[in-house]
Amino acid sequence: MGGAPARESRLQSASHQDLPEPAASGWQSNAAQYNPGPPRAGQFSFIAPSERLGPAIETRVAIVTGASRGIGRAIALRLAADGRLVVLVSRSAEALGAVCREIQQAGGVAEARPCDVADGDALAGLVEDVASTHGRLDILVNNAGITRDGLVLRMSDEDFDTVMQVNLRSAFVACRAAARPMMRGRFGRIINISSVTGIIGNPGQANYAAAKAGLIGMTKSLAKELGPKGITANVVAPGFVETSMLDALSPQLREQVTKTLPVRRFGRPEEIAHAVSFVASDLSGYLTGQVLIIDGGLVC
Ligand code: NAP
Repeated sequence: MGGAPARESRLQSASHQDLPEPAASGWQSNAAQYNPGPPRAGQFSFIAPSERLGPAIETRVAIVTGASRGIGRAIALRLAADGRLVVLVSRSAEALGAVCREIQQAGGVAEARPCDVADGDALAGLVEDVASTHGRLDILVNNAGITRDGLVLRMSDEDFDTVMQVNLRSAFVACRAAARPMMRGRFGRIINISSVTGIIGNPGQANYAAAKAGLIGMTKSLAKELGPKGITANVVAPGFVETSMLDALSPQLREQVTKTLPVRRFGRPEEIAHAVSFVASDLSGYLTGQVLIIDGGLVC
């Protein structure tokens, strides 16, 4: 209807010029020179409503945890290609710097902010600082994750707690810190990366499955709590995706699993990023509390 463009411009009030110069704290940004322009050959051509409304409309700011490699890296590249200013988080400053440069060379805008998401105070401080530095926070992708597999009889308390802290508690801490700036902007997209393991379980992954199932319950609660404020909360649950997380799988097990998958292959990180891009878009405001399973048909 006719009222939609006016609402969009209220949601995105400042201009690109209001974005700060790179701070002296070690992170990098080319935000000051940011001008999305028309998509170039090889770039994604999805045009967000903010871009359609012209250059006076500010870029949405996204945080992606676990952005140094694998699925998180692909999500960061994709959101940057969509025209978002992407804040990259993981423990490795060097790897984040490389992803940051990759985004910048493709004409996108990114900042690297090294942080261990298991450190709740550091993570909450980072989220608050991003929101205050840029005057907004629109998209939060909680993707950082680890495994500490073992059969339940042999699983230590430490392995259980570490997985819960990195995979679940960090998402809670980041969502809590992000809720206030998102409420201020009356817009938000929270996307938590779970796993099909959180839905169907997996022998040797009681800790991982518990954390991933916990993300689903938490996300549905956030969807109900924050929906009235214009904030959506959804889960993307991948199946087997080609990243370093699957390095431990033997070739025999890979072959065995592949045969059971309707699409007869493992997923690519870009295919998960595609789902995240869809959920994060301005046009996905009526999608909340959902679990998007991207698994080649493993759970169907
Ligand atoms: P990956 O290649 O091992 O990447 C994991 C990412 O998380 C890295 O960027 C890592 O960066 C970061 N990370 C780990 N611990 C962290 C910590 N304490 N603080 C900050 N960052 C941390 O794994 P992936 O396959 O891309 O997995 C990404 C997400 O998808 C995870 O949540 C995973 O559970 C989920 N998933 C993966 C699959 C799959 O088949 N690959 C399937 C279902 C779900 P640093 O090491 O630099 O800190």
